[in-house]
Amino acid sequence: MANRSKDDTLQFIRNAAKHNAWAVNPDTGFVETLAEGLTVNVNRYGYYLCPCRDGDGSRAEDKDIICPCVYAKKDVDEYGQCFCGLFLAPEKAEEDPSVSQIPERRFQG
Ligand code: SF4
Repeated sequence: MANRSKDDTLQFIRNAAKHNAWAVNPDTGFVETLAEGLTVNVNRYGYYLCPCRDGDGSRAEDKDIICPCVYAKKDVDEYGQCFCGLFLAPEKAEEDPSVSQIPERRFQG
């Protein structure tokens, strides 16, 4: 089973943002909280289950909500943030980094 630290997860978050040309939410306290959730999940399940969704605990069932989830790109493009608000569109991060409750794309057809 994985044995990742919160610092490992913060590095993972920065890498994922860079890879996708997103910004990490500039609210560092908020990011730390999400990083703690992701770290608990990776150490519990072996994968970075989204920290603001309920997973099934099986990689096959949860594969769409392993961070960065398959919905993140559309959500960042449409709402300027991923469902959790961990990743933002770069322009939103600069202009208005506050995050909102956005629709859960997972259960939309
Ligand atoms: S909503 Fe954000 S934090 Fe959650 S899995 Fe998707 S990209 Fe990661």
